[in-house]
Formats: sequence, C-alpha cells, structure tokens
Amino acid sequence: MDTVWAQGQAKVVGTFDSVNPATLEVVATFPVQGQEAVDSAVGRAREAARWWAGLGWKERRTRLLQWKSYLIRYIGRLAELVHNETGKPLADAQLEIVLAVVHIDWAARNAEDVLGPHKVRSGLLMLNQASSVEHVPLGVVGVIGPWNYPVFTPLGSIVYALAAGNAVVFKPSEFTPAVGGWLVSSFGEIVPEEPVFQTVTGSGETGEALALSAVDKIAFTGSSATARKVMAACAQNLTPMVAECGGKDALLVAADANLDAAADAAAWGALSNAGQTCTGVERVYVVDAVYNAFLEKLTERIARIRPGDDREADYGPMTMPGQVDVVEDHVADALARGGQAALGGMQSVRRPYVEPVILTGVPEQSLAAQDETFGPTVSVTRVSDLAEGVALANASRYALGSAVFSKRKKQAMSAARALRSGMTSINSVIAFAAVPALPFGGSGESGFGRIHGEDGLREFTRAKAITRQRRKPPMNLTSFSRTDKDLKRLLSLTTLLHGKRYS
Ligand code: NAD
Repeated sequence: MDTVWAQGQAKVVGTFDSVNPATLEVVATFPVQGQEAVDSAVGRAREAARWWAGLGWKERRTRLLQWKSYLIRYIGRLAELVHNETGKPLADAQLEIVLAVVHIDWAARNAEDVLGPHKVRSGLLMLNQASSVEHVPLGVVGVIGPWNYPVFTPLGSIVYALAAGNAVVFKPSEFTPAVGGWLVSSFGEIVPEEPVFQTVTGSGETGEALALSAVDKIAFTGSSATARKVMAACAQNLTPMVAECGGKDALLVAADANLDAAADAAAWGALSNAGQTCTGVERVYVVDAVYNAFLEKLTERIARIRPGDDREADYGPMTMPGQVDVVEDHVADALARGGQAALGGMQSVRRPYVEPVILTGVPEQSLAAQDETFGPTVSVTRVSDLAEGVALANASRYALGSAVFSKRKKQAMSAARALRSGMTSINSVIAFAAVPALPFGGSGESGFGRIHGEDGLREFTRAKAITRQRRKPPMNLTSFSRTDKDLKRLLSLTTLLHGKRYS
C-alpha cells in the first residue's frame, strides 16, 4: 500500500513513511502538514461543526451507530492495518477495535441523556425561576494521538467529541497515520456531506500547529513530556486541553488473593502489546506471606510468553525503535542498583523485540520504579501488608490506573479507594477501560481531565445555564425600586433558612 492521504489544497511541506516495525516495509507515505494546511483543515471543520451540531441528537446517534457497524463489518481490514503499523498481533488489533466500538455505542446512545437540557431546582429564593442546564458542543476539537492503541486510544476522545456535536481534526501518531486515515475515510462513508472528521498528518510540528490553531479544545494522548509542550502551545490562545499521559501502574496482591488469577492478570497486564500500554502493569507489590508463591506462578507463566511476528507470537516488536533504549536503560539501572532478574535480563533486548523480563528487589528510587518503562518488563516487590503496597503504589509521580487482588471485598474496596490512581480494577487488570460508562484519566504526570463515560462527553462541551422567570418574584430584590421592606423580608427568610446553629 503506498497511498498518500493528502487532504485539502494547502501547501504540503514534504512527506514521511509509516513503516512496519517488524519487517521495516513501508506501509504508506503521507504528507507532512504544516500550519497552513492545519489551519485550513480547522477552517473546514468549523463549517462542518455547524452542520453536524445542527443535525440534532437523533441523526448524530444514527450516523455514529452506522459507523460502529461499519467498523465491525470491516474489522479484518482495519486490524490488518493496525498490525502492519504497530506490529501487534492481529488478534490484539481486533480486540482493540472491539473495545473502541463498545465506546462508540455508549457515547452515541447516551449523549442526549447526559448533555441535553436538565431541569435543576431553583431554590426557595428563586422559586419564581425555571432553571435548566444543558451542555453544548465546543465547535472544533483537535485530537493528538499516540501509536500504541491507534484505534482505541484516539477514539476514546474522538467518539465522545463527535457524539457531543463537535467536528474533529485528528493528528494521528506519525507511527500510525494509515490507521488514522482509515478511520477518517470510513467515517466519511457514513457522513459524506461535510468534513466532520478529518486528519492532518506529520510528527510533532503538525501536532504543535494543531495546538496553535483555532481549535476550541485539544485532546492530547501521549507522553507527559509532550503534554507539557502541547500545553505551552495551547497557552498562546488559552485553548483548553485534556491530557491523557503515561502511567506507572501498580498491581497489589493481598495475602488472601487468588494467586493463579493474580499471576495470570499480572502477566497479561505487563506484557500484552509488548508492555506498550499506558495502563499496563509495571510494578507488582505482593504481601510477604504469598510473595514466593506468587513469584513462582508469575515466572512459570511468563516463561512461556514469546514475542514475534508470526501468528503464534504473544506480542509483537517494540513499535518505536527509541523505546527499546528506554527499556534497556531501566533494566540496566535496576540491576546496577542491586535488583535481580528473576527472568530474562539485559540479553532479553533483541531489537526490534524485547523478551519478557521480571525484576525483583528493585530499589524504589531506580528508573524502573519511578519512570514509565513502556516495555515488556515488570518489577515484583515484597511488602509487609496491603497498606505498604498502597503507600508504595501512591509514591509515584504518575497516577493513572492500578489493580488490587484480594478475595475480601471490603479490603479490596478500601485499598482501591486509598489508591491515588484515577482508575482501579479489583481482581482483574485494565477492566475499567472497557466499561464505557466509567471515566478514564489520571492525575500528576498522568495528566488531567477525563475521557469516556459522562465526564468524557462533558469534557467536549461547555455548560449552558438558563433561568426563565415564570412569575413575578415574591420579593423585588434585583431592582433599584427595591424597598427596605423587601430587604427585611429577605433577611428574615435567610435567618430562618440558614441562620440556625449547625451541629
Ligand atoms: P508522544 O508524546 O511521543 O506523541 C504523542 C503525539 O503527540 C504524537 O501524535 C506526536 O506526533 C505528537 N507530538 C509530539 N510532539 C508534539 C508537540 N510538540 N506538539 C504537539 N504534538 C506533538 O507519545 P507516543 O510515544 O506517541 O505515545 C506513548 C505515550 O502515550 C506513553 O507515555 C503512553 O503512556 C501514553 N498513552 C497514554 C494513554 C492514556 O490514555 N493516558 C493512552 C495511550 C498512550
């Protein structure tokens, strides 16, 4: 495939290739779009946004549900493209698309209920007013996406922004532009009238151009370092942004946990997608009493897992060549500081693949404990009790996801609540991402704002408050003809309502 997905007439500043990371074959060539091309895409989106918002809830819902079924009908083609650009196994690509579809369905079906007009109580003082709030689209949303889940991750913003009535200009990762282009052209099959959903292609400069353009909001997903740059660009026009950044997710294993289930989940959470998952498991804290048994089960499982480009491979190559260096640095640093490799080690790095690595006894100040590794490695650490596990999990600059394994619901719920991360799965990993009604997002280095669920819909709107005077007010308070009597009545009423001692 060597298509060039050029859009609009504006000047193109060169081209770039997207490459299959396993075979190094060129998947496709794309234009590098600069400020002028980005601005003109945003200009077209502005017109399209009016049209799309004007379609109303019912028609938007129908179109989004039609798009959803299109994606499922052509899941094979899209999965192939995801496989070619990221290197992940086809089955993983299909799983990713299925999860994205679940979100399209939820956003399409719930947008009106969540965002449409809601009556609110006016309160005794304003009893003569009928009050309501509704959430109106922002206009044009710029979405800047990563490569690790090139369908699921950007659609987590795009779908919610579209369902809320916005047009979207999407800058896919320079590693996965063909997937981005396919998503846009498939949407165009269902919504051919206006360019409601467009892509602009290129690397960081194109993303920066989008952040500097006239978009009404930026939804950024990527590393914390890039989020800082995007935020600085957004500051120029006071453009708001939502930032979905990296993580250093911890999994806690309590003494009463089902150890087989915990080991199975830890293995998948750490290694699936070659560990290139923002909510991947990077640290495991295991209560002393079950530490040895858990480590044995985990090692036994992980020893059977193998990367490759063949159909039987459990995960693929590292998508981004530079990330292999980060993984290598983290393993080397952990070993140099006294950590041990329970499985694999420096020899596990065999570009473009990294074989599984289990580290133990990794000091908390080492890179592997502090920074996002984003590779198929996991550190397993002994703790005296669950509270120590929670404390260590929370002692991170990141706060994205986490997991707790315990059979006692009360204990698991209390640990989940004590964890600072935005999302926690109990007795499973990453389950929260597949529940569309749940908000997704973190704090600290993991970013801010929420995608998915009701919060995800509201993220791409502005609240509009309306009061309608139904009858004359009982007291004439907001007029220059207010009398002393009006004020006296107000003060008596307020004393009655709010003046009692509060105990
Ligand atoms: P990245 O930060 O390198 O790039 C993300 C996007 O930003 C790309 O499209 C890139 O071209 C663009 N970009 C780069 N420089 C820019 C600039 N100056 N201005 C505007 N845009 C710019 O991240 P990545 O390597 O593509 O993705 C991996 C990271 O994403 C990891 O840290 C991972 O944890 C994170 N991630 C987070 C989530 C989440 O939902 N929290 C989901 C997936 C990935």
